[in-house]
Amino acid sequence: MKQTDIWVWVEGKGHKTATLTLEMLAAASLLAGQVGGRVTAVTTAGSVPSDAAMLGRYGADGVLALCHPALARFSEEDHACALAAAVVEREPSVVLVGASTAGKSIAPRLAAGPGLPLLTACTALEWKGRTLRAVRSLYGGNVLATEEFSALPGVALVLPRSYSPLEPVEKGPVPVEEVLLEAGSLPGRVQVVSEAREGAGETALEDADIIVSGGRGLGGPEHYRLVRELAQTLGAACGASRAIVDAGWVPYKHQVGQTGKKVKPKIYFACGISGAVQHLAGMRDADIIVAINQDPEAPIFQVATYGIVGDVHRVLPALTAAFRRRLA
Ligand code: FAD
Repeated sequence: MKQTDIWVWVEGKGHKTATLTLEMLAAASLLAGQVGGRVTAVTTAGSVPSDAAMLGRYGADGVLALCHPALARFSEEDHACALAAAVVEREPSVVLVGASTAGKSIAPRLAAGPGLPLLTACTALEWKGRTLRAVRSLYGGNVLATEEFSALPGVALVLPRSYSPLEPVEKGPVPVEEVLLEAGSLPGRVQVVSEAREGAGETALEDADIIVSGGRGLGGPEHYRLVRELAQTLGAACGASRAIVDAGWVPYKHQVGQTGKKVKPKIYFACGISGAVQHLAGMRDADIIVAINQDPEAPIFQVATYGIVGDVHRVLPALTAAFRRRLA
């Protein structure tokens, strides 16, 4: 195992490198800095990435492109298998995987194949001598546990917004190593027949500076339009509590919280959301939290920067109208 070799799995979203990957490059650069190591961005997208130079500007010292025609479409099993084979062969110290939906499905498969240790929900990583330590955010962020990898190479599934992307630096092109995988080297048990991108054009929750979220206090799915209208006015993304996702009012991709997305926008509007710990786990790091709830004792007010005690059916239209006038 080469302690100095830190890998980052590169996730693409609509052929664009995900912000989360840039956060992982920042985490990897800090680790590499501790041991005089190097950061390798590993892509399993099937071909040499067009944005290798960009990966370099954000911290990668080199790019390893695992290439196979079958990897052009995303199948967790094949992508994890390709990555696992490379880890076994080259033995980096750790592979950092961002805990997106795709990352959460890649990391356990990557670890389980060759039997590598996996630490999930990591928020910070550091070397103590030759031991790699991780701080893990457990029980909805209520417990922070410091744990060590029992062996290396290991796999760290790192929570979004745990690290900020580095300031990009101009440097020459980074070396790109292309590895052509053999024809039968992937399980190929899943054939992706088509892909559809949901919500094209919408701001993704993870990337949004402003999020307007709605909860059961909206009273019914038809009232979620109040959330959409305010979000549209502010150029914000729409979020939701699990209660209304489970009730089928909005799709899961909007869910914020322990079992949804972890977000860190500049402003988070919580509308008709009580503020259960599992919801707070996903949004309490927002810079500013505006809570609208008719119950002055609602727990959401304990984390709110600004609280409005009132009925969402009255407050939301008034806010939307006021912002429209202000932004016109
Ligand atoms: P409620 O708790 O019912 O709150 C509704 C709020 O609206 C109340 O505070 C009420 O005062 C207010 N209200 C009612 N009418 C109005 C009105 N007209 N105007 C203004 N306010 C009004 N939850 C998540 O959100 N995300 C998660 O990821 C998540 N993961 C979970 C994981 C586990 C393992 C478990 C057990 C639970 C999880 N939950 C999660 C569920 C969580 O515990 C809560 O049940 C959920 O967050 C409640 O959603 P809510 O605030 O919309 O609804």
